[in-house]
Amino acid sequence: MFNKINDSIIKDLIAICGQNNVLTCREEIAGYSYDEYVNQLPGCVPEVVVRPGSTEEVSAILKLAEENRVPVTPRGGGTGLAGGCVPVHGGIVLSMQRMNRFLEMDRKNQMAVVEAGLTLGEFIQAVEKEGFYFPPHPGDEGAMFGGMIATNAGGSRAVKYGVIRNYIRGLEVVLSGGQVIHPGGKLIKNSTGYNLLHLFIGSEGTLGVITRAIVQVMTRPTFLRTMVIPFNSIEQAIDNVPLIFEKGIVPMAVEFVGLDVIQLTEKHLNLNWPSHQGEVHLMVIVDSPSEDDLSRMTDQIADVVLENGAVDVFVADTKAKQDEVLKIRSEIYEAIKKETVDILDICVPRSEIPGHMRKVQEVAQRYDLWLPSFGHAGDGNIHIHLMKARYEKGQMVPVSYEEIKDRLEAARQELFKDAAARGGVISGEHGIGLYKKNYLSLSLEAGQIEMMKRIKQALDPQGILNPGKIF
Ligand SMILES: Cc1cc2nc3c(=O)[nH]c(=O)nc-3n(C[C@H](O)[C@H](O)[C@H](O)COP(=O)(O)OP(=O)(O)OC[C@H]3O[C@@H](n4cnc5c(N)ncnc54)[C@H](O)[C@@H]3O)c2cc1C
Repeated sequence: MFNKINDSIIKDLIAICGQNNVLTCREEIAGYSYDEYVNQLPGCVPEVVVRPGSTEEVSAILKLAEENRVPVTPRGGGTGLAGGCVPVHGGIVLSMQRMNRFLEMDRKNQMAVVEAGLTLGEFIQAVEKEGFYFPPHPGDEGAMFGGMIATNAGGSRAVKYGVIRNYIRGLEVVLSGGQVIHPGGKLIKNSTGYNLLHLFIGSEGTLGVITRAIVQVMTRPTFLRTMVIPFNSIEQAIDNVPLIFEKGIVPMAVEFVGLDVIQLTEKHLNLNWPSHQGEVHLMVIVDSPSEDDLSRMTDQIADVVLENGAVDVFVADTKAKQDEVLKIRSEIYEAIKKETVDILDICVPRSEIPGHMRKVQEVAQRYDLWLPSFGHAGDGNIHIHLMKARYEKGQMVPVSYEEIKDRLEAARQELFKDAAARGGVISGEHGIGLYKKNYLSLSLEAGQIEMMKRIKQALDPQGILNPGKIF
């Protein structure tokens, strides 16, 4: 279906990007074969990696690729958790790492203009220096703007502040064949024709290569407080989440996390979580420009949860204590990654979380599996971990993957089906990529999948952009 990269294509790529930015040596390209998904498919190696330095260079590469019918896989920070940037058909990996400029801070419009290779960490530093704030925070600051936009990344602050989609006002996109388009702009409103901007957001590199973005920023909420609230059961913890919202409080984040993974992460980092009581903890972050308002919110939340089964309430009110809690929460994945087979990214309506979590417990028991689950309780996005380990006396005890792989697969499918039956989806923020594509039909109607395929065909008739993904 695709052609192989030959010497003439390499010569043309060098003419476009320069010798130093066309990599073919095995050792150099090996690092562009995978992302952060834990159970990678072997053998997905690019034939060549190119590192363009401008939109014109990206355009020339896509023109060349289409003329020669070779696949192109865009790559950002490689922090994805769905195999989205894995070059499953070889060909060209288009690394955006050199296009990392912060181009403009438009103070009047409170919008920044960035190149797609700028990382989240670099962006946060730059906007904070200018006195602004960027609320979405997908957990790995090595993620690049192109990747975050292409996956419509979320993070724990989505409950109050939304996801990346809510902050992207305009894009520069290079289409298959090399045409450059600019959907959106420095606009708050736009009802002019079909919304192509939002078509590219979440398109996982299959419809076009994002080269620039116009990003909304906001003024900084001045004060933050982090609460840690232990409960004796997951049901109690989750049942409290809607009660907080019913008080009219919208926290910046509401996360739930089991004591099993907290203790493993404490050991991994040599840090201390504020409480070891109960079984499952809620971590609630509230923010406000007024300290009095913050106290009112934390008092109200404490009253509600203590009336409804909370074992205790801890408030981290200094930056050091807040940082420690956040560090532990953010590093859970690293602490258990070694024995993780897959991290699910199911999203259900918030009201369905208790029912779905009951299903998770029932499935774990029936298949005799350890399925540690934590996630964004405030927005319905739950990360259930399929593990090749048991949890015994505070330790992860590895078990043979071969022995449990069929049970893990059965559990995964039951949970995906349960989510769908509750009006949920199989990915809330990581995308479908390579590793979830076989389950797409559990989440979407056949008619929707067909429509998506027709859009792909219209924008990329030769199918060279990130082939083998989503469908
Ligand atoms: C520890 C950890 C915590 C995480 N926490 C979160 C979280 O809380 N929320 C969340 O949403 N995600 C989270 N992630 C996942 C990951 O960080 C996000 O999916 C992120 O958006 C990926 O960005 P990236 O630049 O690394 O993209 P990559 O992994 O390089 O690529 C992801 C996809 O985007 C495409 N792509 C990349 N650049 C472009 C471009 N310029 N144009 C078109 N397509 C492009 C790729 O082809 C691929 O399909 C986490 C990951 C880790 C390792």
